[in-house]
Amino acid sequence: MILIKELLDSLQGAPGFSEPAFVEAHSSVEQVTSIRVNPFKRNTEGASIAELEQLPAETLSAVPWCANGYYLAERPSFTFDPLFHAGCYYVQEASSMFLEQVIKTCFPGHSTAPLKVLDLCAAPGGKATHLSALFPAGLVVANEVIGSRAGILVENAIRWGSENMMVTCNDPSVFRKLEGFFDLIVVDAPCSGSGMLRKDPEVMNEWSQAHVAHCSKRQRRILEDGWPALKEGGVLVYATCSYSKEENEDIADWLSTTLQAVPVSIPLHPEWGIVESISPLHNCNGYRFYPYNLKGEGLYIACFRKTSNSSEMAVPLKKMPPINRASVDILADAVADPAYWCFTEEQEAYRALPAAWSETINALKSVLHVKKAGVTLGKIIKKLLIPDHELAAGNLVSDRFQCLELGKAQAIEYLQKKNITVSTALNGWCLITYKGFRLGWAKILPNRINNYYPQRFRILKPSPPSL
Ligand code: SAM
Repeated sequence: MILIKELLDSLQGAPGFSEPAFVEAHSSVEQVTSIRVNPFKRNTEGASIAELEQLPAETLSAVPWCANGYYLAERPSFTFDPLFHAGCYYVQEASSMFLEQVIKTCFPGHSTAPLKVLDLCAAPGGKATHLSALFPAGLVVANEVIGSRAGILVENAIRWGSENMMVTCNDPSVFRKLEGFFDLIVVDAPCSGSGMLRKDPEVMNEWSQAHVAHCSKRQRRILEDGWPALKEGGVLVYATCSYSKEENEDIADWLSTTLQAVPVSIPLHPEWGIVESISPLHNCNGYRFYPYNLKGEGLYIACFRKTSNSSEMAVPLKKMPPINRASVDILADAVADPAYWCFTEEQEAYRALPAAWSETINALKSVLHVKKAGVTLGKIIKKLLIPDHELAAGNLVSDRFQCLELGKAQAIEYLQKKNITVSTALNGWCLITYKGFRLGWAKILPNRINNYYPQRFRILKPSPPSL
């Protein structure tokens, strides 16, 4: 890979930067592949893929800073792994998984705390799905300003089965209306992308000092827009995949000067190879990831607390309009823990929202453009539930539904939305499973099986001969 001199010159003096090591790391063809396992995706026996040792390839080791992160010995074809489509794992660059350490430091009770979390720049959903797993009792608002990318975020949220994650599509300035609302805001900002050079050499064609300056300006604007929505005592996490100090330490100094953000130090293990950087003006702690020091791509992450007095605008909670008793009974029968859910109807489809958050979600709808909230359960026609794919992909589905287990080749055919033929005594709606993990719905009729896998999720590529 050709690294332009302008980039190398600009990085001289950046904390932890070594030009020879950097050049060597970018001349090797080494590709690091890592995944984060979904702790809530359980098969019909209640096991995750990690417990079943069903990871998509041989694992080299665990990602040291993330409990569910694994390095794979090779990059398999994720497209032809049914467990990828079942949402059993998310393919995520390992450095990004460090978010977990930040959350553990700032929110030791994260696994039970009912906190409000905003991921302001969330697509395609790496950090948002991670946050939804780290705050199972919380509400994660995953926002993406670009409409098409928000669509991808919705798809990844459905696959992940994130019941506590809502997807919104708003310019960051809209969040100014939610003053003091969130306990945690993550800004994984659009950046010049030099940290991703090994994965995407095209970044080099776009890179220039002028682009860095443009990104730095945009990052300040996003942070300025998001900051009012953080409550007093709340935490801001700022991250980029750039090595440029204009997008990292300079932004940390700006946060400290302009917004009086107070830096938070994150404990590191020396063997992780992460470089702690201290910003030049206000000694803000930041964490730099270089591919020559660790197994991961370039990343900068820093964490701040809001200590300044800040008012908390009350967002008036709004009760969900009730639905009739007969429908509630049908819906309650489809989910494992009906008391946890509040059922609602929207555009003829029924949805389940975590009851603890339903009024908050309803209130947010009057401020934000919501693309997804809760889980679509399906439609009710003639007192019968026509189940939606989201019910199969979610973790809330009742175990009363019958399951049809498929082998790998047939599971792929199902995911390609082909007709499947299996001899079975089952009939009616059933969940299609692979290794006990739910892939979607099918309806078994006397003479055929109707494949209800959603068109938009289907595998488009033809199967390789090896299947
Ligand atoms: N957090 C994501 C993840 O972990 O998968 C990656 C986020 S990516 C680094 C930055 C995101 O910011 C992109 O999805 C991009 O569309 C979005 N973005 C671009 N311009 C923006 C703007 N002006 N305001 C807010 N977000 C923006």
